Amino acid sequence: MASKQYVCGYKYCLHKNEKVSLEESVLVGNRHYHKDCAETKRRIIECAELYMSYIEDKTQYPTVLRIINTLTFKNKVPTEYTYRSIANSKTYYSDKPVYVLYGIRKAFWTQEFPAQ
Ligand SMILES: [Zn+2]
Repeated sequence: MASKQYVCGYKYCLHKNEKVSLEESVLVGNRHYHKDCAETKRRIIECAELYMSYIEDKTQYPTVLRIINTLTFKNKVPTEYTYRSIANSKTYYSDKPVYVLYGIRKAFWTQEFPAQ
């Protein structure tokens, strides 16, 4: 009998919502995820939590998560890069609005494709 297949629980599934078999899936909460989807989700939360540890206003968490999701999926900034940028700039981020996180996009793309 074929193994049970699940729809990946990740909203930003990296496999266009292709189903994942029980053996290849990871359980997050009560949903089955592809392994790399679960890993990406975990890394994004790590970035958001690191950033949140710098700022006073804890109600900003959903906004921060949304910005980091945008950077990762829309702007194709690797989560390692985002994490490092946040880790290296604690004093910069601590007294600025969360939207300065979008600066990571520019920093990444400027570095990847410097002006000729
Ligand atoms: Zn997935």
